[in-house]
Amino acid sequence: MKIYIVEESGFCFGVKRALNIIYGLNEKKQGIQIYGQLIHNSTTLDRLKAKGIDAIHSLDQLDPRKKLVIRTHGIRMDEEERLKKENIDYIDATCPLVKKLHQIIEKLHKKGAQIVIIGDKNHPEILAAKSYADNVTVIDSEAEAAAIEKTDHLDVLAQTTLDSDHFERIVSLLAAKAGKLEIHNTICNAAKVRQAAVKKLAPRVDFVVVLGGKNSSNTRKLYDIALNRNKNTFYIEKSSHLNDPAFIAGIKNFRSAAIAAGASTPPEEIEEATNILRNINLSIEKETNNGKRKRNSKH
Ligand code: SF4
Repeated sequence: MKIYIVEESGFCFGVKRALNIIYGLNEKKQGIQIYGQLIHNSTTLDRLKAKGIDAIHSLDQLDPRKKLVIRTHGIRMDEEERLKKENIDYIDATCPLVKKLHQIIEKLHKKGAQIVIIGDKNHPEILAAKSYADNVTVIDSEAEAAAIEKTDHLDVLAQTTLDSDHFERIVSLLAAKAGKLEIHNTICNAAKVRQAAVKKLAPRVDFVVVLGGKNSSNTRKLYDIALNRNKNTFYIEKSSHLNDPAFIAGIKNFRSAAIAAGASTPPEEIEEATNILRNINLSIEKETNNGKRKRNSKH
């Protein structure tokens, strides 16, 4: 079986940067608490937990003996202001590309702009980003774009992990809603490259394994993109789940696979998934050859 790994699969630079900050503090024996889920991947979060690094979900849960690390998705502006005002000891591990999104929104707010963000309104990144301005509407569908009222000027931005095609589709609808539409394509490059690679590879292989947290927005987008192009697409949270007999039976006749992983999937998970698929393939080949030998010996 040929196994292809989708380009830019696994930890992106924002996640690596956040983990480096945390592991650096941990080596110095610094007590750490993370504000929110650092990333949406249970393998990584379990590893951090094993080191005594846990998440808090409200600033009221702060332990003053520990250093607070802000998650990659960022926090709301009022929360950051509170940290500064109360002299809370914290390090900001928000991805610089997410920070850039905040800065653009803040600047537009100062100009009095009417802002539309395309993305998931319940995702922590968007909850934080929209706090940087008052006049913000978050939309994620063509129907929501159609419901936007006509106006003179609109500024449109994207969740950093949005599918580029989805962004362009909605932007083209918004063009009819504003005399002037200013487009700020804030989709991160790692997400763009990974999604483009999945679009290209998914139709060319027998099946696709998308590896990553079920609550990871960028992994789910990869899954949707792959599934649209290859019906034999499997969303697997942990590589060990590939050992499931039903999955093995399902891929028995397949000869090529692509593994795509979200930005929060650790490299070891991708390596393990590759090894498991290779081993499954070896056992299938062995079984097939044994079957042939048995049939031949009957003649
Ligand atoms: S996916 Fe992109 S925006 Fe999100 S953390 Fe990674 S590098 Fe930053």
